[in-house]
Amino acid sequence: MVKPSFSDEIANLLHASHGNPLITCIQCGTCSGTCPAVDYMDHTPRRIIGMIRANLKDEVLNSNTFWYCASCYHCTVRCPAQIDIAETMYALKRYSIWKRVHQEGLVGPTFSETFVKTILRSGRSFEPILATSYLFSAGVRELIQEGVTATKMMLKGRLPMLPPRIKRLDNFKRMVSRVIPLEAE
Ligand code: SF4
Ligand code: SF4
Repeated sequence: MVKPSFSDEIANLLHASHGNPLITCIQCGTCSGTCPAVDYMDHTPRRIIGMIRANLKDEVLNSNTFWYCASCYHCTVRCPAQIDIAETMYALKRYSIWKRVHQEGLVGPTFSETFVKTILRSGRSFEPILATSYLFSAGVRELIQEGVTATKMMLKGRLPMLPPRIKRLDNFKRMVSRVIPLEAE
């Protein structure tokens, strides 16, 4: 059996697209020119697509580009080749977590894993747990400020003390665990 290339694996993750949409990229740079987060990225969206096509797996996975994507979809709606670049960024995030390979020191991977695990445990997002994945990287001042704000919101009933749980949680867990390659606990 022939092992799929990195480029093929990413194409397979883009379930909604037919075939491999990235091979139609003409490297025009419209995505990079329109991206509001490009100044913070190691590689522009145009370049990251070129790197996927060149099977530069390690370089792609170790870049911060897809973790800095704000999912604004500007690139997707403007791409002349109709490539869903924002969805490609999501595919790279999923792949990176699945393979447990990412750049050190990024908030995104921990935040994403915490979010999915919280959802799998209760069926709902719970901000106090999510906050622990990024608050400690923001410094003591921000930590205290966030703590004060959270306490005020809890006292006014705007933030629950305990994680809310949905009904029929087991059914939900079974459904989600079929599509997300993460353990629930
Ligand atoms: S806008 Fe589309 S065609 Fe142009 S570089 Fe970006 S992905 Fe490729
Ligand atoms: S969806 Fe992501 S990559 Fe595309 S323009 Fe917005 S921030 Fe940039």
